[in-house]
Amino acid sequence: MPMTMLNATHNPDLLCWEPTANGDTDFPIQNLPFGRFRRPGRGPQGGVAIGDKIVDLAALLELELLKGDAEAAARAGAGDDLLPLLRLGNGPASALRARLSDLLSEGGASGLREAAGRVLVAQADVEMLLPTTVRQFSDMCVSTFHIGRRNGNDDRGQPICPPVFRTLPVGYDGRASSIVVSGTPVHRPNGTWQESFNAGDLAFGPEPRQDYELEVGLWFGGEGNSRGQPLSMAQASDALFGMCLLNDWSSRGIQFWETMLGPFLGKSMATTISPWIVTVEALAPFRVPAFARPAGDPPVPAHLNETGDQQAGGFDIALTSRLQTKTMRGAGVSAQAICKTNFRHMYWTFAQMVAHHASNGCSLAAGDLLGSGTCSGPEMAEAACLAESLVAGSVKLDNGETREWLEDGDTIVLEGRAMRDGYASIGFGKASGQIIPAPDWPT
Ligand code: MN
Repeated sequence: MPMTMLNATHNPDLLCWEPTANGDTDFPIQNLPFGRFRRPGRGPQGGVAIGDKIVDLAALLELELLKGDAEAAARAGAGDDLLPLLRLGNGPASALRARLSDLLSEGGASGLREAAGRVLVAQADVEMLLPTTVRQFSDMCVSTFHIGRRNGNDDRGQPICPPVFRTLPVGYDGRASSIVVSGTPVHRPNGTWQESFNAGDLAFGPEPRQDYELEVGLWFGGEGNSRGQPLSMAQASDALFGMCLLNDWSSRGIQFWETMLGPFLGKSMATTISPWIVTVEALAPFRVPAFARPAGDPPVPAHLNETGDQQAGGFDIALTSRLQTKTMRGAGVSAQAICKTNFRHMYWTFAQMVAHHASNGCSLAAGDLLGSGTCSGPEMAEAACLAESLVAGSVKLDNGETREWLEDGDTIVLEGRAMRDGYASIGFGKASGQIIPAPDWPT
């Protein structure tokens, strides 16, 4: 079943009998993302967000309202980890989505509304967890605007990127152990850096140039490829299960000094993700063509070129980074937007990233997480990390504070919203993290 198709679950006229799902919410009935949560004093369990509530899948199963693939998906998602659900892939998850849409909609199937008191949990009463223990994490780098911000433009007016950039989706293997869920504090790392930005003597100690990167994360679904076997573009498209927001915290002093083979300690201190898996099916109304290659760029390589992906492999998702300093928090001032960009600026599609990743026979499977790379657009207001913002000078906040780099106590909040006329807008929740002081060096 192609996840590009629109179906009854995308109907913008659907309303939910749960009132918080209607109106301005990230989680209307057209979204239905999967997540893992924990009630106080209980173990982890799987659920589906609706408004400011969660459908507890284990409690839903007890009502015996599901059958076939929908029941199989609910069983796979009802345990203490969402990996079994990711393994089942898009088909069963889609069947569960269709049934939940019917059970939750005003005038839809009966049975769930009557038991809402037992099945719906308030998000405010639970702790959100990572959907699963991340199996493998790789991070890509596929915005020409991110790379070109510091390099300038060529004589075509296009961002100057290394020769490899337009020939394949560039990436590196990250650390699964570094992935943390939104809300987890992030230590400033210790490391080796030059005293000035790319100049000066070397020092070791707390990173002076701590940055963030606004990215989208991709949850891989299905059985994947066995080692040695590549994935076709069609297989790669089918493996796209869902997305989240991803902050690839980047320590620029460490990164810029150490990089010879690629990023290492400059990236592996922490990567923050939003807890909800917004399914690729839920995002179907927001698909857009793959990035239009400017005249003079190399052609799309044949093994990464598929008609459906070229026509609809991109996603129109508005993305925002917000910063709240310790001073702002103390004064009760909410986080201020410092970047507004869109996922459609990415030069390569997620299907191309997956197909490229597997092209040498590298094994990918459910539970793998892929970062898109910094989602910068052409305008300065679309600079999705501080290293880029700095090209126009330090970030100026409304309260008079300025930032070249993140200070201890600063919180970065990432948000995402997919919007299109004629469709219900869906959101991603938040990926939030606060920088806390570097740990004391062990004696
Ligand atoms: Mn990155």
